[in-house]
Amino acid sequence: MANSQALLSPFSFPQLPSPSRNHFQIHCTFGKFGNFLDLKPESKPQPLKLDLPLFHPYSDRSRFDVVVVGAGPAGLRLAEQLGGFGIKVCCVDPSPLSPWPNNYGVWVDEFEALGFQDCFHKTWPMASVYLSEQKVKYLDRPYAQVSRRKLKMKLMEECVTKGVKFHKAKVWEIKHQEFESSVSCNDGCEIKAHLVIDASGFASKFTEYSNSRPRNCGFQIAHGILAEVEHHPFDLNKMVLMDWRDTHLGNEPYLRQDNKKSPTFLYAMPFDSNLIFLEETSLVGRPALPYTEVKKRMAARLRHLGIKVKRILEEEKCVIPMGGALPEMPQAVVAAGGVAGMVNPASGYAVVGGMAAAPRVARVAAEGLGGGGRMIRGKALQGRVWEGVWPMEKRNVREFYCFGMESLVRLDLDGLRRFFDAFFDLEPYYWEGFLSSRLSLWELGMLGLSLYGHASLMSKVDILTNCPLPLLKMMANLTLQALR
Ligand SMILES: Cc1cc2nc3c(=O)[nH]c(=O)nc-3n(C[C@H](O)[C@H](O)[C@H](O)COP(=O)(O)OP(=O)(O)OC[C@H]3O[C@@H](n4cnc5c(N)ncnc54)[C@H](O)[C@@H]3O)c2cc1C
Repeated sequence: MANSQALLSPFSFPQLPSPSRNHFQIHCTFGKFGNFLDLKPESKPQPLKLDLPLFHPYSDRSRFDVVVVGAGPAGLRLAEQLGGFGIKVCCVDPSPLSPWPNNYGVWVDEFEALGFQDCFHKTWPMASVYLSEQKVKYLDRPYAQVSRRKLKMKLMEECVTKGVKFHKAKVWEIKHQEFESSVSCNDGCEIKAHLVIDASGFASKFTEYSNSRPRNCGFQIAHGILAEVEHHPFDLNKMVLMDWRDTHLGNEPYLRQDNKKSPTFLYAMPFDSNLIFLEETSLVGRPALPYTEVKKRMAARLRHLGIKVKRILEEEKCVIPMGGALPEMPQAVVAAGGVAGMVNPASGYAVVGGMAAAPRVARVAAEGLGGGGRMIRGKALQGRVWEGVWPMEKRNVREFYCFGMESLVRLDLDGLRRFFDAFFDLEPYYWEGFLSSRLSLWELGMLGLSLYGHASLMSKVDILTNCPLPLLKMMANLTLQALR
């Protein structure tokens, strides 16, 4: 029987104000928040210039091996990997040549490991973590801002070389029969495929999450601007991974009190003495920290740091669901990237994880579609590819990260400062591996013990007070997974 997937989004996103004219007018309270909130982003990103092979519904046969929904980093990487196995792929996106809106920051080594060393816009040899006015840690690990243009162009060109076709439309509905699925688009076009992969991002409505288990994710919320400023106090050789200082809230008793309970930090990428990307970030909150609160804190911080914004070139509003239950597995649509829960639940990093999984998923799909000699279809194929998306070992590792997230969400400002003080004192193998999701479950267990060993007395108290419940939950989930 055909079943239809035109559902509501699995995530209930916190409401963000839309970046409309009205929004900026509402915040025209000069002097109170600092005037950067009244400025409008000026940059008008130009589309990529590439001759895309388009799918022609009337001349092409409208049946593909795989339809990939979404031309974000995860969708394009998967499409080109599938194409590399000789699989007939169509990638559907309303605007495949538009630049991606998000500003991606990554560790240089993890991006190089994916073969994207030529896709950096700017790199910094070190990163800094301000724990307080008195304490700053320097991390000897290069960090980069991704050139979204170069990365998207590279992935697009790979897709074109490997025969991927594109269809410029929004997917409206996906229906499944026993051995094939059909994808209906908002231009009336229908595309048939043996397998549909949903890579349409966190707000997707095509991938189902369990109705019986609460989703229960946390949310990372951030407000970011790429700004031209009169000057700023940051060293041009170091990006600021986290600035947890709160002296800027000294004259704001209400903001300061809330920040102690639900803290935010500054993430900053200084490009030159007058150009800087600044982002006030709530690492993880449940419920999500109100967005207006994040902006007020950011205004107070910039005022305190003496940063006068002259122009805003780009603005980003960030909402990333972290942790919580994974999608129902298996189901007729296979998910990839953000919608598949491929987000580091403890840090919010996602772009590398989604792209790193693509070769594994493509290989499993190619085997199922016939490349391995035995062709499978329908539920057998979907189940096999879901195993490629979330193999047991990765699911187990994710449980540990969810444990990390559940512990972080319980910490106040002082608790987080103590936590990161101990965390960045670990052997680089452990903290780097943790942030790049490359440790095994065993190594994560060792990291947990080592973290406890490095923790101050107060931090040990934090751990003993906040961690037992999440730890029990993790153990229960690991046991359930082992029994399945
Ligand atoms: C503001 C912001 C900043 C971030 N910064 C970082 C960072 O610094 N580092 C990091 O690792 N992660 C970061 N993340 C997380 C990261 O952006 C996402 O996890 C990543 O973009 C997910 O990639 P994706 O390909 O799964 O989805 P997306 O990038 O969301 O791409 C989805 C694509 O699907 C298309 N689409 C949507 N609906 C449909 C439809 N119905 N039909 C067809 N196409 C559709 C969209 O147009 C889009 O092109 C950030 C997220 C945000 C929101």
